[in-house]
Amino acid sequence: MTDQHHDVVVVGGGNAGISLAARLVRDGCRDVALVDPNETHHYRPLLSYVAGGMARLEDLRRPQGDVVPEGVRWYRDRVVAVDPERSAVRLAGGEELTCADLAVCPGSEVDWDAIPGSRAATTTPHAATSYLPDQAVRTWSMLAGLREGRAVFAIADRHVPCAPVGLKPLFLAADHWRRTGVLDRIGVDLLLEGDALAPQEQADRLLREAAAGLGVRVRTGVRLESVDPGARTLRTTAGGAPEDVPYDALYLAPPHRAPSWVAASGLASDDSEGFLAVDPTTLQHVRHPRVWGLGDVATVDALPSGGALRKQVPVVADNIRARRTGRPMRRYSGYSVAPVTTSRRHLLLGEFDRAGRPEPTLRVPDLVRPRRSLLLFDRYLEPQVYWHRLLKGKVS
Ligand SMILES: Cc1cc2nc3c(=O)[nH]c(=O)nc-3n(C[C@H](O)[C@H](O)[C@H](O)COP(=O)(O)OP(=O)(O)OC[C@H]3O[C@@H](n4cnc5c(N)ncnc54)[C@H](O)[C@@H]3O)c2cc1C
Repeated sequence: MTDQHHDVVVVGGGNAGISLAARLVRDGCRDVALVDPNETHHYRPLLSYVAGGMARLEDLRRPQGDVVPEGVRWYRDRVVAVDPERSAVRLAGGEELTCADLAVCPGSEVDWDAIPGSRAATTTPHAATSYLPDQAVRTWSMLAGLREGRAVFAIADRHVPCAPVGLKPLFLAADHWRRTGVLDRIGVDLLLEGDALAPQEQADRLLREAAAGLGVRVRTGVRLESVDPGARTLRTTAGGAPEDVPYDALYLAPPHRAPSWVAASGLASDDSEGFLAVDPTTLQHVRHPRVWGLGDVATVDALPSGGALRKQVPVVADNIRARRTGRPMRRYSGYSVAPVTTSRRHLLLGEFDRAGRPEPTLRVPDLVRPRRSLLLFDRYLEPQVYWHRLLKGKVS
């Protein structure tokens, strides 16, 4: 097998990798390669609507071949190791690719090991997550089928992609139960590992109000330790105190981890928990100047989200050129988003920087106020923006 050299190699063809490859080509880079084993591309934000009974899996899937930008060489293979000193990647098929600059964006994966019993629980009809496509469908059948009992929504704060959207299935289900007249027979508990429903103060307050309006009991600082699927019970701790919580339906937004080869390749750091250690503003690797990181795998000190990639992609594309020409680098503010449905008709959009300060794209109107138009945008228009603009590198 012949080993290949490219100007830029992009590892991962998800939201980050495809948008970056397209942006590099638009900027005139003639030799971009992309590595991704998957034949199907997912627009993952719609998974929350699948889990809430407002979308189908077919709505969010496209053949990967349709989204790989023209002019980009696609290797349908999996990266198993990186040699950052040589900017080289090794593929599962045995091939090695070298490059002038390497962008690493393989996303993150569900860390079932972090919560013993959680994976087994999701093989029963009583527990599911929207964070995996096959389970998103089951989430809605579980929630829609509940007529009485206790529904528990547990949202971790360990690297969950766009964690506040874990609230979408809750609000969509609770509104459904209200409309179908069974809400007063269902106890709804929201167990948040973090201390807020969204990183921005106004969004957090409005979401708490919406939850209170639907009778949802909200508890923060609750860590899910384990699940006993047989007894349908969660073991939690809050402030160090253990508590057993029974459930009839359990929704999980589970902790995520970086692929193990990231740390094994020397791309993590002592305090990055196995994630790719980049400068959170320039997105350049902290030790290897020709390695770049973006998306869910990178330590950008901000909520990982697709919205964040609108800002990260141009930063990486421009900074690759800046490194080569010696120009000053662009900086990423930590911008991220939390689009959360508050009912089956309304959605609020939080936009903030890494300190949780508002960073709205539009000053007027106030998009943090729940609106019907925002839900329609998020469910129907945003996917079109994704396929036709973001994945085409049309981000600035
Ligand atoms: C249920 C859910 C709902 C969400 N809702 C929203 C939302 O409403 N708004 C929002 O802004 N964000 C949302 N997000 C977050 C958003 O989808 C992610 O932040 C975004 O997809 C991250 O892009 P990424 O390219 O880093 O990772 P991914 O999109 O996960 O892509 C990673 C890619 O890398 C590939 N890959 C993995 N390992 C390897 C390897 N070893 N070699 C080669 N390729 C590899 C994978 O096949 C995949 O194609 C949501 C996420 C989920 C899961």
